[in-house]
Amino acid sequence: MDLIATLRAMLGPAAVLSAPAQRARYARDGLGPWRGAALPPALPDAVVRPASAAEVAAVLHLASTHGVPVVAVGGATGLMGGAMPVRGGLALDLRRLNRLRAVSRIDLTADAEAGLVLGRLARALRAEGLHLGHDPWTLPVATVGGAIATNGIGYLGGKYGSAGDQVLGLEVALADGTLLRTRPAVRASAGYDLRRLFVGSEGTLGIITAATLRVFPQPERRVLRGWSFPEFAAGFAALLDLHALGLQPALLDYGEEFGPEVPATCTLFLGWEGYREEVQAALRRATRQIAARGGTPLPQGEAGAFWRRRHVVAQRLRRRRQSEWLPPRTAFDFVHVALPPSAVLDYRARALAALAQHCVAPRECGLWTHPGLFSVVLAAERDTREEASAAVGAAVDELLRLAQDLGGAMEYCHGVGLRLAHLMAREHGAGLALMHRLKQALDPAGILNPGKLGLDLA
Ligand SMILES: Cc1cc2nc3c(=O)[nH]c(=O)nc-3n(C[C@H](O)[C@H](O)[C@H](O)COP(=O)(O)OP(=O)(O)OC[C@H]3O[C@@H](n4cnc5c(N)ncnc54)[C@H](O)[C@@H]3O)c2cc1C
Repeated sequence: MDLIATLRAMLGPAAVLSAPAQRARYARDGLGPWRGAALPPALPDAVVRPASAAEVAAVLHLASTHGVPVVAVGGATGLMGGAMPVRGGLALDLRRLNRLRAVSRIDLTADAEAGLVLGRLARALRAEGLHLGHDPWTLPVATVGGAIATNGIGYLGGKYGSAGDQVLGLEVALADGTLLRTRPAVRASAGYDLRRLFVGSEGTLGIITAATLRVFPQPERRVLRGWSFPEFAAGFAALLDLHALGLQPALLDYGEEFGPEVPATCTLFLGWEGYREEVQAALRRATRQIAARGGTPLPQGEAGAFWRRRHVVAQRLRRRRQSEWLPPRTAFDFVHVALPPSAVLDYRARALAALAQHCVAPRECGLWTHPGLFSVVLAAERDTREEASAAVGAAVDELLRLAQDLGGAMEYCHGVGLRLAHLMAREHGAGLALMHRLKQALDPAGILNPGKLGLDLA
């Protein structure tokens, strides 16, 4: 293909990979075949590894001219197939854009390139006495650009918000090769907030090349505590009490596990961080409220162990990416829905009833970072993996539709990609047609991550 030769001349031969084994590494992200949507792998025609924003812009200009799809890839940990090149074209691996351009301890900002791995950014900030607010499970692998493009959320989301909330300014390469920079101002009332347009856009409107992030002082004090509750509703009542008080923990992880070998208890971990007096006051008041709802304190070591283990899954992922880790006739999936807290108990009861009807087992239910952000992990075993996947997929769809019907959003941190594309019209109504028009305006040749977000279905 002429385009590959042109790209090699432009970026250097080492930055353009076309051998089958190299391309195969980009055929999947975290949407494995064990999930509720059994999708075949999708090979790109070539992998391009630019080293600067200018190179990204030049690649996009060329791809637009040739009408060739471009799929941004960061750490490829995305769970929805967003980084899968379903229409071929170029996989644009951004991990060579990995510089921390500037840090300001006065402004509390960091200018980071999009391919910088979050864990490396967190370590660099720590050396400056600063703190990265975004701390997802996949911190050791996921990138700044991937986190913003999916508007992810991390363990400390209760205090620092989503990845998008932490963006002050963006540098974005547009489809035609224009490099756009939004002003990294703390507040702006000067027209459209273009920055927000790219948050959660999963590489369909532009390629994020760098971001100015809001960062935070290293907390003077962090406390973590755990409690158990005999039933979900009791712990949830405690969380609603804190919510009503305006007492927002930095870490909120409340979960119940199902299964014959697991005792049916619910475990709550809360954490606060900040300056000493605020942390002490929050802990004291929360402890009182939780005791009043029947929470039994866990041994102190358990909360600490929970915190230390929080990235283990990502480290495992880095070692054995596409390995088969489930029995061959099993599939599993999850939902992460955003509900009004007032709807959570009703949702939980109806979701469990729906799973029973589908003969799909709940593995875990829980809340993360906020009393309205509810997740369910589910699994099914059938005669074949395909049958198990179909059963899990149908159950997931019903749970997502139920969240929509109760006034919620079908996903709160992993994006849409391919996996949830079929429910975008139901999620957004007339909003999906508007998204489609925005997409056409920004990417008239349709080269940016085609086939994602249900935009083709509008
Ligand atoms: C075990 C596991 C645990 C997880 N835990 C969490 C969690 O705690 N919180 C959370 O939020 N997510 C979590 N995720 C999902 C995933 O880690 C996040 O979605 C993450 O933000 C993706 O970052 P990435 O760099 O891997 O992006 P990728 O997977 O490479 O890409 C994700 C999407 O963003 C697009 N994209 C990537 N880079 C750019 C860019 N520079 N410009 C424009 N578009 C871009 C891609 O095209 C794709 O659509 C988890 C995933 C796994 C496998």
